Amino acid sequence: MPELSNRLDGFTESIIRKMTRIARQYDAVNLSQGFPDFDPPRELTEELRKVADDGPHQYEITWGSELFREKLALKQSKLMGIPVNPAENIVVTCGSTEAMMAAMMTVCNPGDKVIVFSPFYENYTADAILTGVTPVYVPLAPPEFMFNPEELRRAFEQGVKAIVLCNPSNPTGKVFTREELEEIARLAVEFDTFVITDEVYEHIVYEPYVHTYMASLPGMFERTLSCSSLSKTYSITGWRLGYIIGPTHVIEVCRKVHDFLTVGAAAPLQKAAVKGLEMDDAYYEELTQVYERKRTLFLDGLDRLGLKYYKPQGAYYVLVDISEFGEPDDYKFCEWLAREIGVAAVPGSSFFREDVNQYIRFHFAKKEETLVEALKRLEKLEAYRGAELSNTK
Ligand code: GLN
Repeated sequence: MPELSNRLDGFTESIIRKMTRIARQYDAVNLSQGFPDFDPPRELTEELRKVADDGPHQYEITWGSELFREKLALKQSKLMGIPVNPAENIVVTCGSTEAMMAAMMTVCNPGDKVIVFSPFYENYTADAILTGVTPVYVPLAPPEFMFNPEELRRAFEQGVKAIVLCNPSNPTGKVFTREELEEIARLAVEFDTFVITDEVYEHIVYEPYVHTYMASLPGMFERTLSCSSLSKTYSITGWRLGYIIGPTHVIEVCRKVHDFLTVGAAAPLQKAAVKGLEMDDAYYEELTQVYERKRTLFLDGLDRLGLKYYKPQGAYYVLVDISEFGEPDDYKFCEWLAREIGVAAVPGSSFFREDVNQYIRFHFAKKEETLVEALKRLEKLEAYRGAELSNTK
């Protein structure tokens, strides 16, 4: 038999999605892969029913239906404070997963380097490898997950083509301050690089933190490919609707990449999702409040259990410190947690470039009763504090 491509040797399957399978296997409450267990807004599902009868059921324009782009442009122009032209500045993709991949393929040649902050959402390394790009990692040091500006400068000095910026950040829940973004922007201008953002949690930000779009900083629209999706904002992770917003000459090339990767995002789903894009400000305020309540409920529970964590400023993840359980292998810990305690989490080391094994990631995009059940199961952890977990397996 001929050999398979060795391009894929550098990474394993997604650990996040593997943990969902493990959760199912042990019937654990799944706080690993971040997706809601509650329904999308009724406006969207009702429209989806209508679309089943009325269509469209055939291809849309490859870079997104006209109506979807118009509504998205209206929403994002207002939020980002910059005029987004639906005819020139948008490509609609199959989730932000495709958006990030298409963005990287658009700006990078094989052999180029791209800065990735660590910890990072695992797809970025896979995007880099599949694109033939070498990631240059810059640590966001726990517990505050700040970057060291000198370290970042040294990374830029290595001749990078772009920097990937997940804000609010998965898995840390960090919301980059305006000053931090300005620092990154200054370096991007000085070293003439692109910024590829992942802003899928743009609407999930807790007071007093505020989300600032990199593209909204002076001079940055021209060099920023703003990737995001509707998955988290309207609780439709399975619809796979994402997009890239960027300057005309960049989007022209993104559209080519997107066209040959996937042809287009699902036409009926784009039609139904327009109902989301049409929501008024009250919807987003309510969304934030809903997540604020979930965060409070879950973090209060972790406090009661005496677990240590980094308090998320945005997104719906929390990194919990497991050092007190004496298990040096966070993968084993997560497997054990799913099997014996009945709660699934993601091993933190899958997000870190550095050798960091003391965290696991929970997400709290779940119904309150699901979170309560997870917390109840986690009470059993008390018995294992300071114990040799390995002996229990
Ligand atoms: N972004 C989510 C997470 O980090 C889910 C990602 C995915 O599986 N596509 O868990």
